[in-house]
Amino acid sequence: MNTIYDVVIVGAGPAGVACAFMCKKKGLSYLLIESGKSVYQGIINTYPEGKKVYASKPKDMADNFLIDELRPPDKPVTVEMYVQYVQHFVQHENLSVVTEADFKDIETHRGFFSVVTSKGAFRGKKVVLSFGNSIPKELTVYGDAKMVAKTLDDPRKYLGLRTLVIGGGNTAADVVISILKVKRQENDHQPVYWAHFSEKFDVNKETAQRLGEEILLGGHIRLLPGATPRIGEVDEEGIDRLVIRINEFHEPDGIQLYHAMSFPMKNVIACIGSQGSSTLLDNLQIQTISCTEGICKVAKEGDRLVMLNSEFETTRKGIYMIGGAISPSYMKMADGSISEQKHPNLIYTAINDAAAVIETISSKLQDS
Ligand SMILES: Cc1cc2nc3c(=O)[nH]c(=O)nc-3n(C[C@H](O)[C@H](O)[C@H](O)COP(=O)(O)OP(=O)(O)OC[C@H]3O[C@@H](n4cnc5c(N)ncnc54)[C@H](O)[C@@H]3O)c2cc1C
Repeated sequence: MNTIYDVVIVGAGPAGVACAFMCKKKGLSYLLIESGKSVYQGIINTYPEGKKVYASKPKDMADNFLIDELRPPDKPVTVEMYVQYVQHFVQHENLSVVTEADFKDIETHRGFFSVVTSKGAFRGKKVVLSFGNSIPKELTVYGDAKMVAKTLDDPRKYLGLRTLVIGGGNTAADVVISILKVKRQENDHQPVYWAHFSEKFDVNKETAQRLGEEILLGGHIRLLPGATPRIGEVDEEGIDRLVIRINEFHEPDGIQLYHAMSFPMKNVIACIGSQGSSTLLDNLQIQTISCTEGICKVAKEGDRLVMLNSEFETTRKGIYMIGGAISPSYMKMADGSISEQKHPNLIYTAINDAAAVIETISSKLQDS
């Protein structure tokens, strides 16, 4: 725990894994931190089953993939095959990864940073933020709902439990389908409750078809349209619970009647979309700029873009940001001016950013 690594890398997607591999090649000490169970958890969580992975390269970029070992094959393979290949690669290269460590904060000390995670703090001379751009939204309720899962890492965890999935889109639907499937295969008759604050669920045709199939095959689902999560509380037995209001009736004299259900938080998954990184960057005291009319071509008016120099360094010196975390654009500070820089969210950009940033860090550490 007292080690001061040359580089602490946050997020083990293509950008983070590429950084770790580059550090190893350059002889730098490093630690790769990932909130999920495995490297590439972001991809595992967001790609639909069987999705083909393309080695796409933006037209206007001259360079090839700078780290060939992590390049998706030219003949596209399924996401499952690509992830498996990368997991073997990480094992084979013996890359140092700490999984299930959720990044929280960075403290500055004399000569090093302390990267605070749910598994403790890790020290590094430089920090690379490569946590992608799909930071799940937190549930907002009275009290605390931090124990509620935001992704489905293992559907089998919900066997034998009445499970609540919150959210009205495709991601929530995918979670419902995966749990229904496992429950059906294991003859588990405990239902999956699917709740959304609106009266209408909003899924695409293909997802609706898969859900329909699962229901016809015997999946036990209970829909809760118009349901609102209200309170996060700890009961008298010390169990963290989420209270969700499932309907309400307004009496003429101002009295409200309602029904609510209280689920142990371990039975609940909330897939209510993702948010940009601006709140996190504010907490980290890394500067962003809001796009105003006419300034940005890629980002929308009001979007806040992180400010980086031409070496991907943030306004907090020694902390770098790369990959999907800075897509689809960021504000580049170079030659005394600031302008929006397009940054396509591709495995290509993530890997090539990593190669560039570790090259820079390596020469800076040698100079110091
Ligand atoms: C459905 C879909 C299909 C796509 N298909 C392609 C394709 O075919 N070809 C292509 O080139 N690109 C494709 N992309 C884009 C590509 O996946 C991204 O550009 C790439 O994953 C970005 O890599 P990254 O490492 O920057 O971020 P990510 O892959 O998002 O990795 C970030 C990692 O950080 C972790 N993390 C997040 N928050 C924390 C935290 N607080 N603490 C610790 N760890 C954290 C995440 O779990 C994740 O593992 C696709 C994207 C999607 C959504």
